[in-house]
Amino acid sequence: MCLQTPRRRRSGRVAICRLAVALLGALAGCSAYHAATLVVTGGSRQLRERSDDVPPNSPGRPGLLILAIDGVDRNLLYTMLLAGELPGLAGLLGGSDGNFPHAYFDQRILSTLPSSTIAAWVTAMTGVPPSVHGVAGNEFFMRDERRFAAPAPVSVDSATPVLETYTDDYVNKLVPEPTVYERIRERDPDVLIWVAMHQIYRGADRIVFARRTVLADAFEAYAEKETKELAANQQSWSVFEKLDKQVIEEVTGDLGNGPVPDVLTVYVTGTDLFAHVCAQGPDEARRAYLRLVLDPLLADLHTALAERGALDDRFVVVTADHGHTEVVHDDVHALGADPNGGPVAVVRDAGFRLRPFSLDADNDGDYQAVLAYGGAMAYVYVADRSTCPSPGDVCDWQRPARFNEDVLALADAFYRNNRGGADVPALSGTLDMVLVRRARAAGERAQPFEVYVGNHRVQGVADYLRGHPHPTYVDLDGRLRELAAGPRGDRAGDILLIAHDGDRYDTSQRYYFAAPYHSWHGSPSKRDSEIPLIVAHPQRSTAELGKLVSSALGPQPHQQRITDVLLALRFGAANAAPAAGRAAKR
Ligand SMILES: [Zn+2]
Repeated sequence: MCLQTPRRRRSGRVAICRLAVALLGALAGCSAYHAATLVVTGGSRQLRERSDDVPPNSPGRPGLLILAIDGVDRNLLYTMLLAGELPGLAGLLGGSDGNFPHAYFDQRILSTLPSSTIAAWVTAMTGVPPSVHGVAGNEFFMRDERRFAAPAPVSVDSATPVLETYTDDYVNKLVPEPTVYERIRERDPDVLIWVAMHQIYRGADRIVFARRTVLADAFEAYAEKETKELAANQQSWSVFEKLDKQVIEEVTGDLGNGPVPDVLTVYVTGTDLFAHVCAQGPDEARRAYLRLVLDPLLADLHTALAERGALDDRFVVVTADHGHTEVVHDDVHALGADPNGGPVAVVRDAGFRLRPFSLDADNDGDYQAVLAYGGAMAYVYVADRSTCPSPGDVCDWQRPARFNEDVLALADAFYRNNRGGADVPALSGTLDMVLVRRARAAGERAQPFEVYVGNHRVQGVADYLRGHPHPTYVDLDGRLRELAAGPRGDRAGDILLIAHDGDRYDTSQRYYFAAPYHSWHGSPSKRDSEIPLIVAHPQRSTAELGKLVSSALGPQPHQQRITDVLLALRFGAANAAPAAGRAAKR
């Protein structure tokens, strides 16, 4: 019966019913990729019950609308807004025709490393970097639990974690740190928070999401990896459009009556998914999608909020997780295309037993190495092979790998293959850097990476970059430390591979760890890492907003400071300071 529920929902029971149906879909496992096996459901889940004697919301402070757009870099979004190409979004920001008297466009903030979806959003919404929250990428291995996590699968062929993110808190459960929503609620218990489609939402009152079939169709289309039609041909993006449209429609429908959320996060993914698969390349794909699909939807969101007077005292924050870099869609440039070649062959030829690319791989398997892919970067995890020398032996992953016998043995194999001196020619000349570090036991503070330079020698990253300038990379050393050197830094592997990608101007010389696509991201390059951050408020001037945002971002404006910005907007700069300090010390 819950499937026939009309769009106006207020009952927690309905949400639970939908959840049960959705879980059936998620339990279909790998076959969840195929829409036919998924049960039609969707809508929202009520995450907290509010008793009748508690205020329905907390409008005494400025509201927040957080518009999270996947895969749009700063240059692209700002250029389009200032050229007047996005009137819907401009309206939400109180501007028109490229004039924004009540908005501040930050020019400094950088994405986390890797510049990829899940690590980036978790960082933005917890206020701490990956070495602290432990969500190191779209895929990573947790050696303490001997478990492979794939909140946005790259090497594994399964949409299950994507579905479970909305039905079963898949990403929330990976994150031990408090979310920005929990931190807001700590100081403002009555705050009403809705989150639409974002992967991390713990602490919110409600998560709004698209129907399972719509979500599965979009990811199936993404997994097909290619769409040839010109971007302007709506057929080629219709599944992604359907997804974003449904999310905005759910939100605008729910805004029609009842208490207005004080904090509303709306996350849209079509820009990123379409950029990956569009044969015309990411810039044309995103421009067309932003202009023709997303912008009209944002105009609808604007109308729905304005009709409730919900923009009068609300900050509108627009940000993204990463940019996009065009790559060649073929088996040569896609290093993950051949399940038995490329990095897999290097690991195998070096004499390591590799964990299969599967979410369901037997956790008691006898593997000695694990690969996790993420576009421009890949993580390699190595066991202390003295604990499991023979096939069938289960390695003790609680123990750190030995530096010479395990870590450097495999790093050297990648290094030599990359230089064309070993047996896997497909890897030759594809890697920009092979990074290594001395492993610590699970749970101990992990060390920063260093660059492997052959013959079992390493060099510090900053030192290496002085001798080997990478003009397109931005703050590689600092962001690598934030990824790797910390209490959960071991999640970024014992060996980190950076493919030639963001360092190359010529598309034909770029490589990536994934199946063939037309565009990827994840690199330390400016193109992948310079993200937008726009803050607007109808009663504030650009200068006033700039002061507020700059002070919350601090001298090192990395993505985790978005949490500090949100707290400063809600509670005022002075009130946000203690929380910002606390986050920085973690
Ligand atoms: Zn992406």
